[in-house]
Amino acid sequence: MGVPSGEIIARPMVARACGCVQEFQHYAVDRYREQRKAKFQKTRCPACVAKLVEEQRRAATLPKKGEAFKALPPGTEITMSRRPDSTWAGTLVGDGTKVEATGEGPQGVTLALARAWLMARGLWDEAAAAAADSKPPIQPIPTVLPHAVVPTPPKSAAKPAAPKPAPAPKPAAKPS
Ligand SMILES: [Zn+2]
Repeated sequence: MGVPSGEIIARPMVARACGCVQEFQHYAVDRYREQRKAKFQKTRCPACVAKLVEEQRRAATLPKKGEAFKALPPGTEITMSRRPDSTWAGTLVGDGTKVEATGEGPQGVTLALARAWLMARGLWDEAAAAAADSKPPIQPIPTVLPHAVVPTPPKSAAKPAAPKPAPAPKPAAKPS
């Protein structure tokens, strides 16, 4: 019989996979106590399971990396600077909307910026999506930089649609 029965004879505190320490009950009759204990230690506590499920649910609603970048308008510019504490601060300007994000690495900041832009434009917002009809059109949010991250002015030197750069002309040797 795998079901433990009888009185609870001990209640040792056992650390679970999530790091939380919880009471593990020793029953008087329990052939599979060690197996149950091993499973107890390998699994998360109910609170952490619920938290994980919620995080996964939230993550599932975020636009995927590819989708987020594809949704950005042509001409979008991203500036990135490494800060003294070795984190990164980024600014994204797309279609007149400016957003900022910080993070451990430039890749993460880039994605956070793309998502922030989508949110700022109301193109993605899990909460606002439902209430979208009652809202006025979303205005670009002016942001004040608390630190000296100055986005470089847009260089509209858009390359012509030539697929390959023309070979550089040889410098003409000027007789001096
Ligand atoms: Zn836990």
